[in-house]
Amino acid sequence: MKIIDVRAIPLVRPLEETFRGGTYQITSRNTLVTEIEADNGLVGIAFGGDEEKYQSEVVQVIESALRPLLIGEDLWSVERLWDRMFQADPGLENRGIHTLDLLNKAIQMQAIAAVDNALWDLLGKSYGVPLYKLLGGFRDRVPVIAIGGYYADGKGDKELIEEMRGYQAAGLAGVKMKVGRATVKEDVHRVRVVREALGQEFVIACDANQAWVPEDAIRFGGAVEDLGVRWLEEPVVWYEQLRGLRQVRQAVKIPVVAGQGEISRFGCRDLILNEAVDILNVDVTIAGGITEWRRIAAMASMFGIGMAHHEEPQVALHLLASIPHGLYVEIFPNPERDPMWFDLPVKQPEIQGGYMKVPQCPGLGIDLDQEIIAKYSAKSKVL
Ligand SMILES: [Mg+2]
Repeated sequence: MKIIDVRAIPLVRPLEETFRGGTYQITSRNTLVTEIEADNGLVGIAFGGDEEKYQSEVVQVIESALRPLLIGEDLWSVERLWDRMFQADPGLENRGIHTLDLLNKAIQMQAIAAVDNALWDLLGKSYGVPLYKLLGGFRDRVPVIAIGGYYADGKGDKELIEEMRGYQAAGLAGVKMKVGRATVKEDVHRVRVVREALGQEFVIACDANQAWVPEDAIRFGGAVEDLGVRWLEEPVVWYEQLRGLRQVRQAVKIPVVAGQGEISRFGCRDLILNEAVDILNVDVTIAGGITEWRRIAAMASMFGIGMAHHEEPQVALHLLASIPHGLYVEIFPNPERDPMWFDLPVKQPEIQGGYMKVPQCPGLGIDLDQEIIAKYSAKSKVL
């Protein structure tokens, strides 16, 4: 069976309000829909990524550099196709400076990811099995947490607790809350009030988005050690990723998470070998797609490292369900923050008792709303 077409449709959707984390703010929810059509009459479809600045370049790489490599190829040859895409010249300007050149590689790896994820959906559909079963089928539901606890003007303890109670009422296992924008003392207080109000069973992870120098991360970690924090995500500044994360791990008895910004298995290898992480939250839409994510998960298992996943529940759910060391799938339960999750899929996976159930339809098992795709397609505006 041969691939006969590859299509990329960038979606751009401005948000009604601004969301602020430790080191950034979000004003738009973008994503990329990829379709791969085969001569067996099936179309693999995936969506993912939240790329704002370089979205049009990602589309350009898919259309100009990757699509010609795939047309006419056998759809079963996933490893071979991945390697061809990895070796391809993305056709972007070569800056000749290694660290800047990584930007081009990051764009290329996002493009490969978009194609690879759609290809795996196509494989699932061609076999007639849900993707998580094709990948190993370890479980059919995955614990789910909210991404929340954003900072907002006028938001105090009362509003924070109300937000968390909403997640609990919605059947979520807990929250990954933002830290790192306030003082360490204030952030410790925020975590403490959530723990006291929501009880011991409510999962609380903390994500600093690389806000702290190692000393502040260690101060925060030490102060919340008695609060049952599930993990500390990206606690240190970007330039201290290896040494700083290791320092935090050595000083604090809370698992350290990083990896969401890595673009390949090689960056993950360095995090592991430098003893910088307990858990990797590699994003399948950034780091080369399902093929590369599975390689990273295999490497992690050899070192006793758990696998989380940065956002993108539509794919993460299948990946985390397919391996024994998969942790929590995460969603934005607030439709204002992630409207695409609420209306791009025709139907969301069911959430009950702290778990998200894996769809049992072939492939990713999530049909997309064509009206939403048409409404937010940036194709004519971007290219
Ligand atoms: Mg994060």
